[in-house]
Amino acid sequence: MNDDVIATVEQSATPAGAPADLDKSPRVSSRAPKDGAAEMTNFEIVSHYFDLAADSLDMEPDLRSVFRSAYREVQVQIPVRCLDGKIHVFSGYRVQHNGARGPYKGGVRYHEEVDLDEVRALAALMTWKTAIAQIPFGGAKGGINCPAGQLSSDELQRITRSFIDKIEKVLGPTRDIPAPDMNTNAQVMAWMMDEYGKLHGHTPAIVTGKPISLGGSLGREEATGRGIVYMFREAARSLALRPEETRVVVQGFGNVGSWAARLFCQLGCKLVGASDVDGAIQSPIGIDPEMLLAHIRAGGKLPEYSGPGVEAITAEELLQLDCEVLVPAALGGTIHAGNADSIRARLIIEGANSPTTPTADEILNQKGTFVVPDVIANAGGVVVSYFEWVQNLQHFRWGEREVNEKLGVILRRAYREVGARALRDQLPLRVAAYALGIERVLEAAKDRGYV
Ligand code: GLU
Repeated sequence: MNDDVIATVEQSATPAGAPADLDKSPRVSSRAPKDGAAEMTNFEIVSHYFDLAADSLDMEPDLRSVFRSAYREVQVQIPVRCLDGKIHVFSGYRVQHNGARGPYKGGVRYHEEVDLDEVRALAALMTWKTAIAQIPFGGAKGGINCPAGQLSSDELQRITRSFIDKIEKVLGPTRDIPAPDMNTNAQVMAWMMDEYGKLHGHTPAIVTGKPISLGGSLGREEATGRGIVYMFREAARSLALRPEETRVVVQGFGNVGSWAARLFCQLGCKLVGASDVDGAIQSPIGIDPEMLLAHIRAGGKLPEYSGPGVEAITAEELLQLDCEVLVPAALGGTIHAGNADSIRARLIIEGANSPTTPTADEILNQKGTFVVPDVIANAGGVVVSYFEWVQNLQHFRWGEREVNEKLGVILRRAYREVGARALRDQLPLRVAAYALGIERVLEAAKDRGYV
């Protein structure tokens, strides 16, 4: 196995040409937490939550150190000649955090600010997420620090193929299975599968989130958004919230946010605010998410959308809107000490990974805001990825209804189990969720004789 870590030269690139087929980025705010925890990096934030859960499990320090660092971190150089005629050098990362429970699993994000610390944090989150959902995977994450929104489809294809060529030795359908994440989509997965196939033969189970034509699963594209709505249905019971009385704000109207918005509205809720990288809007009457999506797909900017009662607001005003449910579905660190207190939502369902800083989390806990943490709230994506992988190994396609039903069973079980642990040990849901995940990974690691 070639485990070489190749040093890279980082360089930004801004070639012209809009991508034809890339998922609209839901980037909204800076990832840097703007609070007392300002100096905490993404990985430190995840490690902080890990420690709170490890404390609740009385875990010894030497055992903790096994999970504090990743099993393997690969960094590769991706030099690509872009449309401006120049060679741009990007950095690609794949971090495999823990594989005790099965092959490494996790998405690949394309974003100019991606760095090793972020990918490392997101890989650890995947380890806990797959364990909490009880799907037989470990945790991994990948990323390339490219300005995805400014690249052409052709440039993205070259970057993607070059990345796979360089990390293929650590991938495999029983080794590590990438998937979409921020700014990557079914098309990017198709290129990954094709590139891997050139070296290893046709291997659909090497990535998930593929187009349906190449072995993708029905229901995968909307799975994360659907999972968020399943979580709402569970939490709404505890909060006595009825859909027809529920106003929802979605921060980050990308794949996850726009699907969540559509499915919330199908349930009878009202979308009263939405935002993306271009700005934010609100309407007390309600925003039609289908119309908003059509406007964006036709090339319009989100803040320029006009509908009944719609007005443009700032990204910070969006978070303070009067509503029952807030879904952060963009970058990490959106909810921080500087804005947590002004959030009026009773329920926050974390569609994004790591949207809440530790200080903000404490403020929200003290205020009594009900937070469904990322590790269960957005697990719908990886759960249907698991179904896709199973279908690929079976060479058999399941119906969409079957996919959605099985997704509901897994997510409801995860929610119930996390809720029961929170109640038993008097912990916030996030810490209870991590504790359950850690316990399961530890058990598998012990059974293998790793620890
Ligand atoms: N990127 C998604 C996540 O953060 C999905 C990962 C997957 O399907 O493997 O959970």
